[in-house]
Amino acid sequence: MGADGITPRGEDFSRWYQDIVQKAELADHSPVRGCMVIRPNGYAIWEKIQQGLDRLIKQTGHQNAYFPLFIPESFIHREAEHIEGFAPELAVVTHAGGEKLEEPLVVRPTSETIIYSMFAKWVQSYRDLPLLINQWANVVRWEMRTRLFLRTTEFLWQEGHTAHATDEEAETETLQMLEVYRRFAEEWMALPVYAGLKSDSEKFAGAVRTYSIEAMMQDGKALQAGTSHNLGQNFAKTFELQYQTADNRMDYCWNTSWGVSTRLVGALIMGHSDDKGLVIPPRLAPLDAVLVPIYKSDEQRTAVLEYAAGIEEELIRADFMIRTDAREQFTPGWKYAEWEMKGVPVRIEAGPKDLEKGHVVLVRRDDRSKRFVPRDGVADALRETLETMQRDLFEKARAFRDERTIPVDSYGDFRDYMAADRGFARAHWCGGAGCEEKVKEETKATIRTVPVEEEAREDGTCVVCGAASPRRVIWGKAY
Ligand SMILES: [Zn+2]
Repeated sequence: MGADGITPRGEDFSRWYQDIVQKAELADHSPVRGCMVIRPNGYAIWEKIQQGLDRLIKQTGHQNAYFPLFIPESFIHREAEHIEGFAPELAVVTHAGGEKLEEPLVVRPTSETIIYSMFAKWVQSYRDLPLLINQWANVVRWEMRTRLFLRTTEFLWQEGHTAHATDEEAETETLQMLEVYRRFAEEWMALPVYAGLKSDSEKFAGAVRTYSIEAMMQDGKALQAGTSHNLGQNFAKTFELQYQTADNRMDYCWNTSWGVSTRLVGALIMGHSDDKGLVIPPRLAPLDAVLVPIYKSDEQRTAVLEYAAGIEEELIRADFMIRTDAREQFTPGWKYAEWEMKGVPVRIEAGPKDLEKGHVVLVRRDDRSKRFVPRDGVADALRETLETMQRDLFEKARAFRDERTIPVDSYGDFRDYMAADRGFARAHWCGGAGCEEKVKEETKATIRTVPVEEEAREDGTCVVCGAASPRRVIWGKAY
């Protein structure tokens, strides 16, 4: 056991993760197996994620709406690939109001079917397109093996759904939202990601193409942090989502869907936290700073609390989220450990000596570096410290990921690398499902993304079968 009862990462990564979730009071197990109670500290982080991402979604022209939790069972069955993918995970309501229902209702595992059935009512002509909708909601997928935030039976997410007049427009939209997710992951979550295409075996049930962003966790494993799907006309054909073209023909719409979920909270924990507790990038931290007044005598107490109150007031006026921890029953050292556990980015210390010298002490959560700053410049100093910390967290995560993403050219090396649980391999792949399956069986690694940029093209030979390959793909073990 390490500080405050957290298992060190190096000893047992999975245990460490669970310890942080419990001790930072982020989430708890519910009476229903696999479901999660998100506690206030965890929910506040999700709210920050929502606020940041919602803005990006709206800036790209989408509007929020809300569709029902229940979907007629027959809807799910209409799209063949879709039902095949989701059938094992469905929760179905057969009774309600004390009676057996005429048609069972599925608790949404995702909302393509219900949303496109509604789009079919709203879209008549090309003038009604594009239709750009997002919803924030909960979904249910009956998972057998669950882990708080990473995989739970019910989870919160956003799901975007759009309809377009052409295939090209739908593809542009799919890539635009992938880019929104990449930006959010890197600029808000401080997690560098690889963005690219999924192989056919990993794509969404019912999609033509699925793209994803993939982040590396501190144990070298991949976490799929967001997906964006080009659905082609699959759902439009199933739900009669047609429109009249400019030259008076009838055609089916082209759809996209894209989503991120509460699993992002898990990504934040596993991407940045340490053996003392949670580390959250400042842009997503519910509190910017905690102010801890330090004193011994009653006389000091009065003076220091007054000093602290003035600092707090000024920081609130400067629009910071700040809390003064003036609890009498705890020592400053105890408070430091608690706020470190909870991941508040900056601790501000103010004691009699600081008051005398007219300064305060800023301590960063991530590297615990200390800075003495003049009392009068505290707001500017805090802003600068938060911005630097945001940048440093990203750079640190990027250096870690880059160091652990290595080119591999032989299958022997590939197997050794995956067995060592170090990170991602960039290796050539012929495009064959057989080679992909063999790797998965023998090493547990999967193709995380296939880079699509022109610069990624490189002639080589498949690391598994030796056939010609046009590019290296990113392989890794995944959550
Ligand atoms: Zn091959």
